[in-house]
Amino acid sequence: MTDTATASTQPQAEKPKKKRRINLTGAILISLCLGIVVGIICSVTIPSGSTVDNILIEGVFYVLGQWFIRLMQMIVVPLVFCSIVCGAASMSDPKLLGKVGVGTILAYLLTTACAVLIAIGLAQALQPGVDLDMNAVVQVKPSATTTDQTIPAMLIGIIPTNVINAMATGSMLQIIFFALILGFILGRLGKKVATVNRFFTQFNAVMMKMISLVLVVAPVGIFCLIARTFANLGLSGILPMVKFIGVVYLGLIVQVLVVYMLLLVVFTRLNPFHFLHKFLPVMLFAFSTSSSNATIPLNMETLEQKVGVDRRITSFTIPLGATINMDGTAIMQGAAVVFIAQAFGINLTPAMLATVVLTAVSASIGTAGVPGVGTIMLAMVFDSIGLPAEGVAMIMGIDRILDMGRTAVNITGDAVVTTIMAKLAGMLDVSVFKNRDYSSVDAGSLDAPTEPTTADEFTAHGDPVEIGEAGDPDKFENIEEPLVQSDREK
Ligand code: ASP
Repeated sequence: MTDTATASTQPQAEKPKKKRRINLTGAILISLCLGIVVGIICSVTIPSGSTVDNILIEGVFYVLGQWFIRLMQMIVVPLVFCSIVCGAASMSDPKLLGKVGVGTILAYLLTTACAVLIAIGLAQALQPGVDLDMNAVVQVKPSATTTDQTIPAMLIGIIPTNVINAMATGSMLQIIFFALILGFILGRLGKKVATVNRFFTQFNAVMMKMISLVLVVAPVGIFCLIARTFANLGLSGILPMVKFIGVVYLGLIVQVLVVYMLLLVVFTRLNPFHFLHKFLPVMLFAFSTSSSNATIPLNMETLEQKVGVDRRITSFTIPLGATINMDGTAIMQGAAVVFIAQAFGINLTPAMLATVVLTAVSASIGTAGVPGVGTIMLAMVFDSIGLPAEGVAMIMGIDRILDMGRTAVNITGDAVVTTIMAKLAGMLDVSVFKNRDYSSVDAGSLDAPTEPTTADEFTAHGDPVEIGEAGDPDKFENIEEPLVQSDREK
């Protein structure tokens, strides 16, 4: 625990040095609002397919927005891999990792089931699909779906046959699996593999630096993403579906303000509003990018630096959550089922609704944390109870608007469960949580470059040799020396 405290107090001590600190939260908010306004103006003034549309919206906005998302995604695989290796290596008690793992997965599943139930309840009460003008709804033909993955296939797929391929294709569960084993072994071998340990710790720190570099361009990237979204949709695309969009957003708000806040109070006794305040930049980021995966780096950093969660927990639970926990997506799917059933005059029986809860929870596990996949998985949910596939086409027309909100909730769910698990495992530094520093993680650190960095400054947890030495040093004595090492050490 002491290293957590030291690591988390370090950024505090450095603070006075940063004079011209960029407030990332404010910058993201401004870009978001500007993006919405500019997007709506463009949708009214620039005809689709015109030269200006091709140059500005489908040119500049599209390219800059995609560059920004790709920059974030570029960091995800190496960052997730390295931080899980480091986290697992410094877990002195592997049983704790097991307990945290099982607890996290259970909590992820339960919160998702709760999310679908809320959505179904709200949609039944508010009836967004009754009296819908079907002709006014924009319908988009769903592209090829990737919903045929069965549960056994998904379970088998957790173990990679080729780890390089897993990294190349960004298969998060496979990467997590390999990294956990590698980290665990490095932790057991400790000093004997100090060079490898040091490499991972330092590489991790390099990734952190890269995140703060990319965050500097976040406001521009976010503006372009949002402006293009609204320019393409336009108000006329949104209006006929406004009631449905409203129900989904209401469900998302209930999930955050009621379910998550209650869970935080009950399990951690922390002030939930303080949590939300600190977490807001991450939600805005997810809202703008519609990608849980691209938000992983910022989510992990914020939980560690602002909330006080030990990196050994975030490094594992956040990438896992971005892959299997999609509460916001489940809310959209639950509401969509009721909406489409109402629009087509189909009666939903309790058995059908129970099937929807089960399928939405498994769809959540199978949904990748990238834009739009939740709606593709919706086809599987509709299929499970025989709803017409045209329904998916109707939702696709306004998908991006829903995707922004649901992704913000998806990653908030991951963060809340992570904070609870950290608290239960005694790996939450409450003093970090309690400080009044609401600024986003240090995008502004680049503003005031410091002297050449030492290895210590680079590492997230102080001295790199700490990794793998967290437990009882005697345990290493019982492990046979690896061949490579024995030559050198003799
Ligand atoms: N965009 C969502 C995410 O990244 C997934 C989805 O629902 O489409 O979490």
